[in-house]
Amino acid sequence: MSTEPGRLRIAIQKSGRLAERSLAFIEAAGLRVMKGANELLYRIENQPIDLLRVRDDDIATLVGDGVCDLGIVGLNVLSEQERGEQEGGAQVLMRLGFGRCALKIATPPGLQWHGPQSLAGLRIATSYPVVLGRWLKEQGVDARIVTMRGAVEVAPRLKVSDAICDLVSTGATLEANGLMARDLVLESEAVLIRSHAAPEPALADLLQSVEERFAGVVASQGSKYVMMNAPRSALDAISRILPGAGAPTVTPLAGRDDAVAVHAVCQESVFWETLERLKGAGASSILVLPIEKMM
Ligand code: ATP
Ligand code: ZN
Repeated sequence: MSTEPGRLRIAIQKSGRLAERSLAFIEAAGLRVMKGANELLYRIENQPIDLLRVRDDDIATLVGDGVCDLGIVGLNVLSEQERGEQEGGAQVLMRLGFGRCALKIATPPGLQWHGPQSLAGLRIATSYPVVLGRWLKEQGVDARIVTMRGAVEVAPRLKVSDAICDLVSTGATLEANGLMARDLVLESEAVLIRSHAAPEPALADLLQSVEERFAGVVASQGSKYVMMNAPRSALDAISRILPGAGAPTVTPLAGRDDAVAVHAVCQESVFWETLERLKGAGASSILVLPIEKMM
C-alpha cells in the first residue's frame, strides 16, 4: 500500500457495516472525499488527507503501528485486539454514535439460567475469545472457550458448544437459531482511534484540527438550538428545565421590560415533555432547531 509523506492517513472499513457511515461521518466534518479509481485509497480534496480503505480487522494494527494517524473501528474489534501502550497500540479518542451493537451470551432456552455462574464448566463458542475470556474472569466463572471464525450461532445445534457469545443488534438471528440472549458482555459502537506515535511534525496541527472537527460532529449529532420568549421572572426555572445546556443567552425584547428572548444549545434530546414543561414555566414561541456545525 503506497503512502505519501506530508499527508495525514485515516483508516476506515472498505466495505461492510461501518463503511458508508464512516465516509458520511468524515464528510460531515467538511472533508470532501474523492472516490477515485484506487479502491484502497480515497483522497480528501480540500486537505492533505488520505483515507485507507481496509478490512476492519486491520484498522487497529495500522493505527497502532503508526502507519495511519487515525482510524474508525468497532469497539468490539478493537477490544479483541487491544495491545498495551508499550506494544504500540491505539487510544480511543471518542465514541462516534453509529455502528451500535452488543456482544451477548446466548444459550438454548432449555439451559437453566441463574446468571453468569450458570456457564461454569460449559463450552462457549465465540469469535471474541479475548473479550469473552476477560469477562468470564471478571465474573469469576470457569468455562471453556471454543473459538470460531464465523457461524457461531449454529454451534449449539452442532453440539460444538453449550452457549455462544456473539454480536447481536436485533436478536433476529438468535431467534432464528433457537437461542435466548442471557447476558451482556460488551456494548459496542464505532470509535475514533489515534496512534500513540506522534504524527509527522508538519501534520500535528492538521491532526488536531481534524480531531476537533470530528468532536464537533459528534457533539452536534444529538444537540439542538432552542429559542423562546419568557418572562424575566421565569429565567431560573427555564434554565433548570433545559436539558444539558450551559448558561443560556438572554436578550431583551423590543418594547417589553418584563420579557426576554432565551437561546440555548441543548446537548441532549429535546422531547415534547420538555417543551410542555417550558411552556408551563411561562415560555412562549418555543423553537427547536437542528445544529449543523459546532466547535
Ligand atoms: P470486514 O470485511 O471489514 O472484515 P466484517 O465482516 O468483519 O468486515 P461487518 O459485518 O461489516 O464486519 O461489521 C463491522 C462492524 O460493524 C462490527 O465489527 C460491529 O462493530 C459493527 N456492527 C454494527 N451492527 C452490527 C451487527 N448487527 N452485527 C455485526 N456487527 C455489527
Ligand atoms: Zn472483519
